[in-house]
Amino acid sequence: MRFPLKLTTKLTKYLVGKRIRGEERFPLVMMLEPLHACNLTCTGCGRIREYKSTINEMLTVEQCIAAMEECGAPVVSICGGEPTIYPELGRLVREILARGRHIYLCTNGMFIRKRLHEFRPTASFFWNVHLDGLERTHDLAVERDGVFREAIEGIKAAKAAGFLVCSNTTIYKETDLNEIAELYAYLHELGVDGFMISPAYSYAAVQTKDIFMSREEVREKFQQVCQLLEKYNLMTSPIYLEYLRGERELMCTAWGNPTYNPRGWKGPCYLITDAHHATFREFIENTPWERYGRGRDPRCQDCMVHVGYEPSAVLGAHHKLGDNWKMLKWQLSGRMGGARRESAASRANSHGNGRGNGHNGSHATDHIGRPVDPAELVSPDGSLRVL
Ligand code: SF4
Repeated sequence: MRFPLKLTTKLTKYLVGKRIRGEERFPLVMMLEPLHACNLTCTGCGRIREYKSTINEMLTVEQCIAAMEECGAPVVSICGGEPTIYPELGRLVREILARGRHIYLCTNGMFIRKRLHEFRPTASFFWNVHLDGLERTHDLAVERDGVFREAIEGIKAAKAAGFLVCSNTTIYKETDLNEIAELYAYLHELGVDGFMISPAYSYAAVQTKDIFMSREEVREKFQQVCQLLEKYNLMTSPIYLEYLRGERELMCTAWGNPTYNPRGWKGPCYLITDAHHATFREFIENTPWERYGRGRDPRCQDCMVHVGYEPSAVLGAHHKLGDNWKMLKWQLSGRMGGARRESAASRANSHGNGRGNGHNGSHATDHIGRPVDPAELVSPDGSLRVL
């Protein structure tokens, strides 16, 4: 499976319910930004620039939960800023999971080891680590040495403790895709469960505009992406990838990935801020959706970013015959767990026992593959026995 079965089942039920009720605009993934502060100053990041004047503001856990309940999205992507510097992150994650939602915790990976002891592995929780290249490239992009190494140590620790981990890579004009293929091969060996990939988009607040791509450049780049990377467990949907390769059109469905932050619901999308709304209902009802998207707003002209178009694959804008089958085949053909899972499966097969013993078949093992109890790996102060 490409995603945990529990997540696929939850999403399917949710979508069927919305369709039966005839709802036109509803969210799939809530982008929850409990704070805007970050420990890094990455070159392509719009957040720390756009919210410079309110960089120290934070949402309370109660505000986060109330917004999540109102919006109702089955998946919550906790981002920011850097969520691992949010003091009450452990409680926030527990409260969200207790309400049956699935979480992607998006991080630069610097504090995974420090905070790992606050969480428990479950099929509803992914660490999502942002990596834009191998060590030299990534450290240049985030403007600090040592970030890549610490993120990798965090990934190893999370995998060793039995967590699901995925990576998230932004493709810029200068990105060397052969390097990304090397990065994926390395992460696959570490047991990383899935890979998200998306083109960079020019935030108004980012001054270094020449790192971003035009539509044509995105298409060229993503034709190569698919050739080089499709053997890995890509978590980017095949329909969105067709759009990125220039093989089909999609309509922007930015309401599918709404963003909530200390200023409110950000409208219309993660990238453009024309208003902040106090409630999700106001965000949906008061945003003039017909004015956004390619050909309607010049700021949207080259936008192919995942928050606008990845939900379109599921929400059915420009739906084609066979899309449902394509999505189902894609889900069933994926495989989480990276190379560790493959070798575990071949060991199990050689002993005539194909049964997994964890939520996704991946489990904590030491460096020669012996199973280890996750509780033994993390001490209360967060220090780890890294395998
Ligand atoms: S096309 Fe892109 S920039 Fe425009 S509203 Fe949609 S997501 Fe936002």
